[in-house]
Amino acid sequence: MEIDVEKIDLNLGKIVRAEIEIDYEKCKDPMDCGLKCLRACPLAMFACMPLDATLEHPPTKFKVVPMFRFLCNYCMLCIEECPKKAISIK
Ligand code: SF4
Ligand code: SF4
Repeated sequence: MEIDVEKIDLNLGKIVRAEIEIDYEKCKDPMDCGLKCLRACPLAMFACMPLDATLEHPPTKFKVVPMFRFLCNYCMLCIEECPKKAISIK
């Protein structure tokens, strides 16, 4: 996959936020793949959010979210690694 150089912003005064979407119909449980997108991203753009944590119980359900979109450099490594083809970036 080619990197779209038009989308790389070298002007540090201007923040570009990538349009990153995760299809949760495809990624129902991020633990199934071992959080491949988190581990693939060199800029730690993704976060894994617990959905059902309480003071009494540790979380059992999680969701990967595109948290720090301004960090994305469009390397597309997350898309290459995602086994469920759940990630899209514009
Ligand atoms: S790599 Fe794909 S399937 Fe795995 S957690 Fe990320 S979005 Fe979900
Ligand atoms: S395209 Fe690269 S920098 Fe952007 S979220 Fe995916 S792995 Fe991270």
